Amino acid sequence: MFSYRHAFHAGNHADVLKHFVQVQLHQYMNQKDVAYTYIDTHSGAGVYALDSAQAVKSGEYLDGIARLWDRDDLPPALAEYVNLVRGMNPSGRLRYYPGSPYVAEQVARPEDRLRLFELHPADTKLLVENFRKLEAHKAEQGERARGRRILIDHADGFHGLKALLPPPSRRALVLIDPPYEVKLDYKHVRDALDEALGRFPSGIYAVWYPVLQRMESRQFADRLKRLPAKEWLHVTLTVATPGPDGTGMHSSGMYILNPPYTLEATLRETMPYLVQVLGQDGGATFRIEKGTQVTGTAIPRATEAGPRKPVGNARRASPLSGAGSLRLPGQPFGDGPRKREEGAASAPAEKKRTPAFRYADQAKQASAPARGPKRKVPGRG
Ligand code: SAM
Repeated sequence: MFSYRHAFHAGNHADVLKHFVQVQLHQYMNQKDVAYTYIDTHSGAGVYALDSAQAVKSGEYLDGIARLWDRDDLPPALAEYVNLVRGMNPSGRLRYYPGSPYVAEQVARPEDRLRLFELHPADTKLLVENFRKLEAHKAEQGERARGRRILIDHADGFHGLKALLPPPSRRALVLIDPPYEVKLDYKHVRDALDEALGRFPSGIYAVWYPVLQRMESRQFADRLKRLPAKEWLHVTLTVATPGPDGTGMHSSGMYILNPPYTLEATLRETMPYLVQVLGQDGGATFRIEKGTQVTGTAIPRATEAGPRKPVGNARRASPLSGAGSLRLPGQPFGDGPRKREEGAASAPAEKKRTPAFRYADQAKQASAPARGPKRKVPGRG
C-alpha cells in the first residue's frame, strides 16, 4: 500500500522548485502581523540525509540541490531557500536536506501554527522524532517553546485539511504534495481543493505535481484552472527532454491558488537561473502562466537557458547541530526523546517547557475510508 518514500527523491529538481516556492509563500504570509496556519497534507519525514542508502541509490539530489550548493550568484529569492539548506549543514558539506515541514518550521514565525499530516507509518515516526530532536535542540539553545505550535497527525491529509478549514485566524497556507503513484491522487487533489475553497476561499493553496506523459498529469493543470479560485499562478520547471519511453520525471509544476501578488515577478526573475543551473539538455525550460476567475485567461511565457559554472560556498551555523541533531531515515526509532516527553526530562531546560508539538495517531481510526481501487501507475519518481 505504501510504496512511495520521499527519501529517494529528497533534494531533486522537483524539491528545489517546490521548496523555493514554499519559502516565498511563507515570506509573504509573514508580512502581516496576524498569525497563520500552515497545513501540510503530505508531510513526509521532515528531514532527509543525503548520505542515506535511499538518497545515494537514486542520486537524484545531485541534479537538484547539489547544483545550487556552491553557487555564489544565486538570485535573492533562491538564495533564501539555499541558505536555509546551508543552515542545516554547518560543516559546509551538503548532508541534510529539509522536507516541507522543516522549511515551514524554519520560515514561519513562532506564533504561526503547523499542522502536519503523514500516512506512512515509518515516515510518520521519522517526522515525529525529527521534530522531537529539533525541539530538544532549541531547548538546549534556551529558546522558549510555543506550546502546541506543531501538531503532527498520522492521518489522511486530504481528510485532515477539511477539518481545519476555515482556520481560527482566517489565514492559511496549504501545501498539497501527494506521491501521485496512485492515479486517483490527481482527483483527490482537485476534489480537496474544491471543498477547501468552499470552506475557506481566501487561503493560499500550493499544489506540487509531476509533469508526465500520463493523461491525468497532462490534464491536471487545466482541471485546476476550473476551480473557483479568484486567481491562480502556475509554474513548471523542465530540466531535460523526456525520453522516448516516457520514463523518469524531468518536469514538475507548482500550481498556486490565491498566489501572493509578488510571486509572479519573483518567478520571472528566478526561473531562468534555475533552468540554466539545473538544465541537463536543450529541452530545459520553464513556463509561467496565470489567470483569474473573472477573465479565465492564461498568459503563458517561457524561456530557455544553458548551464552555468558552479562557484563558491557558504557556511552557516546549524539550528540542528549538537545533541538535538536529527534522527534520519533508516535509523532506529529510539525511546530516549519519547521518555523525556513523558516527563523524565534529562535536560533542565526541557523540564519547564510545554511541548511545542503534539502527535496524534488517527490512521487506525475509521477516518480514512477506502478511496476505490488503488492501481499502481508511474509516479513522481
Ligand atoms: N511534502 C514533503 C516534502 O516536500 O518534503 C514530501 C511529501 S512526499 C512527496 C508524499 C508523502 O505523502 C509521502 O511521505 C507519503 O507517505 C504521504 N502520503 C501518501 N498518501 C497520503 C495521504 N492520503 N495523507 C497523508 N500522507 C500521505
